[in-house]
Amino acid sequence: MNRLIIVGGGVAGASSAYFAAQRGWQVTVVDCGQHAASDVPSALLNPVRGQSGQVPARAAEGLALTWELIATLTAAGYDVPHGRSGVIRPVPDERTQTKFNRNLAELPHEWWDSAAVPELRFGWHAALYLPQGGWVDGPALCRSLLAASGAGVVRGRVEATDGQGSAVLKGGEALEADAVVWCGGSFGTQTQRPAHLGARPLQSHRAGTLLTLQDSPGPLPLSFGGYLAPAAQGGVLGATFERPAAEWSVPQLPLTSLDWLLGKGRALRSLRDLQVRGRWSGTRLSGLRLGQAGPAEWELSGLGSKGFLLGPLLAHELVAQLG
Ligand SMILES: Cc1cc2nc3c(=O)[nH]c(=O)nc-3n(C[C@H](O)[C@H](O)[C@H](O)COP(=O)(O)OP(=O)(O)OC[C@H]3O[C@@H](n4cnc5c(N)ncnc54)[C@H](O)[C@@H]3O)c2cc1C
Repeated sequence: MNRLIIVGGGVAGASSAYFAAQRGWQVTVVDCGQHAASDVPSALLNPVRGQSGQVPARAAEGLALTWELIATLTAAGYDVPHGRSGVIRPVPDERTQTKFNRNLAELPHEWWDSAAVPELRFGWHAALYLPQGGWVDGPALCRSLLAASGAGVVRGRVEATDGQGSAVLKGGEALEADAVVWCGGSFGTQTQRPAHLGARPLQSHRAGTLLTLQDSPGPLPLSFGGYLAPAAQGGVLGATFERPAAEWSVPQLPLTSLDWLLGKGRALRSLRDLQVRGRWSGTRLSGLRLGQAGPAEWELSGLGSKGFLLGPLLAHELVAQLG
């Protein structure tokens, strides 16, 4: 049986482990437990992006595969809190509605009168309902994928790979395998890049925060600028909003950012009845890298804000390339 090392156990690494094990690889996932964007407490599965309303290529396919995985894991007894409820994208004016409409094409959707969503604050022009969207608990999905894959999990930091399928951990321990898949996310760009991978590609890091809430803000996630969504416990108000940076750094929550986030939340819904339970800050990496990076090395990173929408789909494709 061929041995595979996967660096990183976030949604990219855990999905790769799951699909590789299905194809007969003996998988070891190495994770240093430092920072995972995939720990996001409630990730939206939202095919219509940002305030531009872009629909990424293959969004519908990605969405369908993520839901299929969640259903399979749940049927097998894994606890993956999620809501296949649909997502509401309110739009402020007719111009934005027209812009969104241009991208929707075949994607199932309905335009609602904004008053039809009781939680939504008064004043939105219309509400786009995306019935195939929803939310998922990020860490629970990754944990379940890893457990279901049967992969060995090693806590350690990979300091180097040799391009031939082996990795060296901090402390000097060498792990031998036939191939390596690099899924180190934003934090992983801290690792010295082996010479065989060439110059580091242009990727950017962007931090954001989710305030975790005692209670759910409502049954349907609301998203425009920021998002309010149910979570395994209560709910969240969150967004990725800090300036893009060239390097990873420990994500912070400047007061001005908190102010911005509360403003986005307030625009969506009254915040009066909601209590903050805690906060989670994370950094995501943009600039997709998918494919072969060395003779026996592959990479899946830079999933941006679409980690749960496209991560499993792209991991499935990557693993097929391994042979
Ligand atoms: C605030 C915020 C909100 C978000 N909201 C959404 C959302 O609503 N919907 C959505 O789809 N996406 C969302 N995202 C994006 C999503 O979280 C990411 O796209 C996705 O989690 C990235 O997954 P990944 O596996 O590539 O990286 P990560 O989850 O960061 O995983 C990388 C892993 O590699 C490990 N690692 C790194 N280097 C090494 C090394 N040298 N050795 C060993 N281990 C290493 C790290 O410890 C980590 O566990 C959000 C991100 C943020 C920050």
